[in-house]
Amino acid sequence: MPFSLFSAPEREASHFLGFAGNVIERQSEKRSDDAARLALTEPEARLLLIAPGRLVLDFGNGAANPYFTLAAAQALEAALDEAVLLGRADGSAMLAVPAAAEGESLPERFKAIDFRSIHAQGLIDGAGLGALAQGAALLAWHANHRFCGRCGAATEMRAGGYKRVCTGCSAEHFPRTDPVVIMLTVSGDKCLLGRGRHFAAGVYSALAGFVEPGETIEAAVRRETLEEAGIRLGRVVYHASQPWPFPYSLMIGCFGEALNEDIVTDTAELEDCRWFSRTEVRQMLAGTHPAELKVPARHSIAHQLIRAWAEDIPD
Ligand SMILES: [Zn+2]
Repeated sequence: MPFSLFSAPEREASHFLGFAGNVIERQSEKRSDDAARLALTEPEARLLLIAPGRLVLDFGNGAANPYFTLAAAQALEAALDEAVLLGRADGSAMLAVPAAAEGESLPERFKAIDFRSIHAQGLIDGAGLGALAQGAALLAWHANHRFCGRCGAATEMRAGGYKRVCTGCSAEHFPRTDPVVIMLTVSGDKCLLGRGRHFAAGVYSALAGFVEPGETIEAAVRRETLEEAGIRLGRVVYHASQPWPFPYSLMIGCFGEALNEDIVTDTAELEDCRWFSRTEVRQMLAGTHPAELKVPARHSIAHQLIRAWAEDIPD
């Protein structure tokens, strides 16, 4: 193995990632059909107000507060009949509610900010980002599954938001999570990084792609690496995972061991793809690369994969 990170870590690597800090007790065995409606009546209930891709934050006390009372949510015309129950944190019910108001029409103390900016700017703590990942994924699934995929009739929410039932054929539909593999391919003292066409200037990242039906995580890592870069992989090792609410993915981070080094870049997917030495990657992490090349932002799983490899001391 070219890396030796895997000897019984005290804390899981996933712990350090943005959107991964969820502390909500989901209490999945207690999700009655009226669970969300009942939870809304609790005085201590805390509500996240979520518009597509955006979370409403209250800056009334200076710092960004993502939690609203029922009264505050009503004042902002949130769609309370579509509230979903996330679970409980510190004894309080936690709910996510579609925000009716467009960001521009909110009173001045409130702002609807996109998830990436909230994540990148550290506007809310890890527990808040974790609750956001759960609530945003669930609300996006509801918005995308209002009709039955089997018969086309309308569906209705059940189980506090964890199920929809068809009004026509009674089919049950459950929230989905889309697995995506993201992998750092390593060969000796080099790793493989690519540049997508939409990336910010100078940024190189680990390769990634959706897991397909009938595929293992390891097979998806090998297929995507071969398709995007022409590199065949031997060993594949899991490292960490990250909920990624765009709209309901789970990023599965792995290391892969390259069997060849001659890259064939899929130019439909990538603008560039090449090997980077560990020294060069350390410069990118430190912001001292002579060509101002960079890795993705801290708390992204790509960053953590790259850092874990770059800071590992070679034998
Ligand atoms: Zn149906």
